[in-house]
Amino acid sequence: MDDCLFCKIVAGEIPGDIVHTTERTVAFRDINPQAPTHVLVVPKAHFANAADLAAGDPQASAELVTAAAAVATAEGHDDYRLVYNTGEGVGQTVFHTHLHLLAGRPMTWPPG
Ligand code: 5GP
Ligand code: ZN
Repeated sequence: MDDCLFCKIVAGEIPGDIVHTTERTVAFRDINPQAPTHVLVVPKAHFANAADLAAGDPQASAELVTAAAAVATAEGHDDYRLVYNTGEGVGQTVFHTHLHLLAGRPMTWPPG
């Protein structure tokens, strides 16, 4: 995708604080962190949201979760939250699938 922010971070055209990479994924720190660890795990290939990714590349979809778990472990967190926002109505602002990894502070439920 020509005009996709996260495609550009994956391609190295825009800097990202990359903490982990796998064959199909890249993980980098969120620019506006909501927890001590706030990392976005994205597929290298462009999909608009989590469901499109799961349908189009199930292997990459699974790899996002295992990559997020690896980052959580590397940063010393046994407990963490994984979030996909899908659609503007629930706060999705970047339409390249990204799994939020949040950890390092107490969290409440339900989310806001
Ligand atoms: P969404 O709201 O779509 O679920 O999440 C998008 C996330 O991308 C937000 O948490 C936002 O802070 C983050 N973000 C937006 N622009 C950039 C950027 O240029 N670099 C990084 N690392 N994160 C970004
Ligand atoms: Zn993209």
